[in-house]
Amino acid sequence: MSAETHYDVIIAGAGIVGASVAWHLAASGARVAVIDAIGPAAAASGASDGAVSVASKKPGPLARLASASLLYTRELASQGVLAGAFHARPSFVFGQGEAELAALDALVAKLRAISGPVHVTGDGPAAQLACLGPGVERLITLNGEGHMPGHKAVRAYLSAPGITPIWPAPIHGFDIDDRGVTVHLADRRLRTGHLVSALGTATTELFPTLPIMPRAGQLFVTDRGAPGLLPGSLTAAAYLVAKTEAPDVLPLPPVVIDPLTTGQFLIGSSRENHADPNRVDFSTLRRLMERSVRALPLLAERRVIRAFAGIRAAVSDSLPIIGNLPGETRVTLATGFEGDGICLSALVGREIARMVHGLPPTDSIAADLATLSPARFVDARQEAWG
Ligand SMILES: Cc1cc2nc3c(=O)[nH]c(=O)nc-3n(C[C@H](O)[C@H](O)[C@H](O)COP(=O)(O)OP(=O)(O)OC[C@H]3O[C@@H](n4cnc5c(N)ncnc54)[C@H](O)[C@@H]3O)c2cc1C
Repeated sequence: MSAETHYDVIIAGAGIVGASVAWHLAASGARVAVIDAIGPAAAASGASDGAVSVASKKPGPLARLASASLLYTRELASQGVLAGAFHARPSFVFGQGEAELAALDALVAKLRAISGPVHVTGDGPAAQLACLGPGVERLITLNGEGHMPGHKAVRAYLSAPGITPIWPAPIHGFDIDDRGVTVHLADRRLRTGHLVSALGTATTELFPTLPIMPRAGQLFVTDRGAPGLLPGSLTAAAYLVAKTEAPDVLPLPPVVIDPLTTGQFLIGSSRENHADPNRVDFSTLRRLMERSVRALPLLAERRVIRAFAGIRAAVSDSLPIIGNLPGETRVTLATGFEGDGICLSALVGREIARMVHGLPPTDSIAADLATLSPARFVDARQEAWG
């Protein structure tokens, strides 16, 4: 094995969370290495809907943190850090049938209770938007949310000076001693003062007892057409139900239609309990397509040019895991973001950088962040790290 190289911080995983952490640490002057088994945005961050959404978040800490992250993402975009990656746009949530209409009532109440950056600016029949079809019974219009393709944000963050990219290089393990952490790659060892693990579903390779499981989602992309036909994302209320209550059976497919700047539409996404990014099945896609066309009939004229799946990292209590390894301030975890990692990434990057520097969390979100600590998995901690 070759000689050791030293970095102030090593970040395991070049997804959007690892990339945001790297940018924040590099901006504060740290010498940072980002290691990925494959390359940047190779996993969930490169296969997601990309909604920076508060509406879809579970009420409580997650919705409040999403509000704070949305505001901070906008700030980073206006400073140029995420320029070209994040763009603000209206979002529309629609429903059909009793269960979905009730979910829309709950959405309006939740947004009112948070009184955050997202506001309901319309609530009524589909006629609010001329392009909608018979699959939309009621439409809520929201102002304040945005869209950020994960791969674009990763590229933007990792272009900062002071970040050393290391890939393809799977991490096989790590050791902690009095002076720091040693990270093991196939052909060498790297030394660091601090390890941040942002490995998504692969977190269990290094921390096997954490209750993280894969949850797949299928998506597809259409060909290009005239842009601007749909002015923002169009989300079925079933998607909110799926994310906040995770029922076994949904009333209707949980579709999200996102118009891209290219004039294409990105349409997703299912929720399936497996870890195979190559499993794309026509029956699931057909259900998503049928519902999409009933909601937005112009899609019937478009061709699907690509279908793919991404794998979310879901935690047993449906909350991310963010914080230092209990009893070990030199190792920090940031994982388990399931369907919320694009939205939360900016805030998480800033807060993990503070943790690494030994600073307290930002005051306004400290209590919510504390609920996400890995210390809540006491049994897992005892088994995994004694
Ligand atoms: C279908 C779908 C739709 C989604 N829609 C949204 C949405 O609209 N809004 C939203 O906010 N979120 C959404 N998400 C969730 C979001 O994509 C994830 O929460 C986020 O990308 C997680 O980022 P991450 O950096 O934690 O993990 P990942 O992006 O999974 O990155 C982990 C990285 O670790 C690397 N790695 C793995 N093992 C090793 C190893 N041994 N050594 C080194 N590197 C390793 C991988 O190659 C990968 O690059 C969606 C996800 C999916 C799948």
